Amino acid sequence: MRPGELIASDRVRGPLGTEDLSRAWHVLGAVMDPEVPVVSVVDLGIVRAVDEQDGELHVVVTPTYSGCPATEVIERDIEQALLGAGFAPRLERCLTPAWTTDWISAEGRERLRVYGIAPPVGSSSKLSLLGKTPEVCCPQCGSAHTERLSEFGSTACKALYRCKDCLEPFDYFKCI
Ligand SMILES: [Zn+2]
Repeated sequence: MRPGELIASDRVRGPLGTEDLSRAWHVLGAVMDPEVPVVSVVDLGIVRAVDEQDGELHVVVTPTYSGCPATEVIERDIEQALLGAGFAPRLERCLTPAWTTDWISAEGRERLRVYGIAPPVGSSSKLSLLGKTPEVCCPQCGSAHTERLSEFGSTACKALYRCKDCLEPFDYFKCI
């Protein structure tokens, strides 16, 4: 048995109280996105709900971009973190409603910016209705004087931009 590994009987079993659930949220808040290791699965809005079902910790997860290769990694990380904290997690993948960048928290957006990725601009539904290109600000200097170099950045969910003022290229987390 490795250190930190819990035997089944040590696990938190139901009924789970409010304290247990808030501890679970706390644990989830430390599970980082594998592609952007500064934002957690809670910041991104991937974790939709946490409750107790039949003594197990029931976690509803909505993957970000469909077909995003990180999805399975994320689900495994969530499971491992909760197991490590003594929970008996059961994940449910929920695909409707589909994840949108609107679900990224204010803290998550700020962490993206500090990390050098321009957070999604505006609301996904409004943008798609208008079909217009958002005004993306440079995460380095804050300038709105930017240009899109490529529809795809380091991953499919990001676009590559460049700041015309500080000349730094940067990723923009596309709004969906
Ligand atoms: Zn700049």
